[in-house]
Amino acid sequence: MLMPAPEEGTLAKRGALVDALRAIVPGEGVIDDPAALRAFESDGLTAYRQPPMIAVLPSTVEQVSAVLALCHREGVKVVPRGAGTSLSGGALPLADGVLLGLGKFNRVLEIDYGNRAVVVQPGVTNLAVTGAVAAEGFYYAPDPSSQIACTIGGNVAENSGGVHCLKYGLTTNNILGLQMVLMDGTVLRLGGRHLDPGGYDLVGLMTGSEGLLGVITEVTVRILRRPESQRALLVGFPDSESAGDCVARIIGAGIIPAGMEMMDRYAIQAAEAFVEAGYPLDVEALLIIELDGPTVEVDYLVDRIGALCREAGAVSLRASENEAERERFWAGRKAAFPAVGRISPDYYCMDGTIPRHKLPVVLTRMAAMSQRYGLRVANVFHAGDGNLHPLILYDANQPGELERAEEFGAEILKLCVEVGGVLTGEHGVGVEKRDLMGEMFTEIDLNQQQRVKCAFDPEGRLNPGKVFPVLHRCAELGRVHVRKGETRFPDIPRF
Ligand SMILES: Cc1cc2nc3c(=O)[nH]c(=O)nc-3n(C[C@H](O)[C@H](O)[C@H](O)COP(=O)(O)OP(=O)(O)OC[C@H]3O[C@@H](n4cnc5c(N)ncnc54)[C@H](O)[C@@H]3O)c2cc1C
Repeated sequence: MLMPAPEEGTLAKRGALVDALRAIVPGEGVIDDPAALRAFESDGLTAYRQPPMIAVLPSTVEQVSAVLALCHREGVKVVPRGAGTSLSGGALPLADGVLLGLGKFNRVLEIDYGNRAVVVQPGVTNLAVTGAVAAEGFYYAPDPSSQIACTIGGNVAENSGGVHCLKYGLTTNNILGLQMVLMDGTVLRLGGRHLDPGGYDLVGLMTGSEGLLGVITEVTVRILRRPESQRALLVGFPDSESAGDCVARIIGAGIIPAGMEMMDRYAIQAAEAFVEAGYPLDVEALLIIELDGPTVEVDYLVDRIGALCREAGAVSLRASENEAERERFWAGRKAAFPAVGRISPDYYCMDGTIPRHKLPVVLTRMAAMSQRYGLRVANVFHAGDGNLHPLILYDANQPGELERAEEFGAEILKLCVEVGGVLTGEHGVGVEKRDLMGEMFTEIDLNQQQRVKCAFDPEGRLNPGKVFPVLHRCAELGRVHVRKGETRFPDIPRF
């Protein structure tokens, strides 16, 4: 993985930078000990590791602003970090960069039930937002599987999703306002507590910006009233095609379930062995479909969806009769990633999105690729959104297996684009999919996206090496031709 080359001038002034940073963030907030820096060397994409030059853990907006202003003046790169659970390497440090950890920003600042809004610092975990309002019967809808650990700042930066985003939208649909700090230290406020801010949708632009445009220091999220009733259906199918067909039938009938997840045989077996959720072991594909709302509506939809499932060829069907049973149905899905970790030394979690009706063809072609690469693949995914999470099983101790897994993963993502989908659903581009951006976007598209980056960070100091396959200097945008990640002028330095 080619990253921006470390700048000798920056490395040479490391000691002076540490002193200057300690003047801004006193006490233990500046880390320069090589052993302690190891704690930050990777995020959830553990195949790539690089300790930062220095880590800084500020606890006030003024400190964030002063740290960024200092780095801006000194020409030092900065990588923002929340909990470090990103699966695309977005929080991977740079050898000559400052890692800016937002973990100390962990307070819920205000709960405003009247506006159904909660103001939180970016280091608050996703689950803690719901925790803060649960007693009053409210919750925060986007629910990534990592919600116990990942932060709201990271969720905004990645536009994270989860099981319930099919009905309630991704992070971008559940954020009302932000405070952010630009690379030069300027503090900005975007949006507020109202649903429709005037002007350009800059909150939308920041959501999914992967730490490249600014550092988020406060987030105002929408909260929703807990539904009166929730029930889940566990539906087994003889093959993935009929399960995929069933998903299309349900959506086509005008029903948007609260969640609709699919697991294939490998994932079902691994999850059942791990948590004993009561999954059928004689099926090739399993759908977990959740309905929520008024009790009468939920009960009606359970019957209606049951009929659609049978028409699509379901061979087993159970509807939860109480809360404990509903939670048991979900327990296997929620534990699917660690469960797969028990049947393989390593796995590589992919994230691509396809039009729903392409599910059967994509699953068939992935099975053929699995044979060709000689690597097993377990599928666990948000079927309702067409957001795939193939888990490629490999053993990093076997020479060449990681590289084979990466090639296999890249081929899956190219397939997603080929059938009309996109490279990522919710895990971001980071370093993982950076070099595949040319598969999806033209040179013109990428240049225009980078002009947006230039408007926020003209020197390209914030999280460089992520998202864009080639980072032009802002002044030369449009002059270098790039196709499929390859430039016609290789002598012009990348990044
Ligand atoms: C087991 C597991 C399951 C997962 N399941 C899901 C899932 O269901 N859905 C899903 O969407 N994701 C999932 N993820 C991925 C990950 O949890 C999300 O991307 C999450 O939003 C990252 O949050 P974080 O706080 O860990 O951010 P980090 O990993 O620290 O950072 C992620 C990116 O955000 C930037 N960033 C972080 N904080 C800020 C800030 N305050 N200001 C500006 N930029 C910032 C970083 O620079 C980086 O580019 C999963 C990960 C794991 C390990």
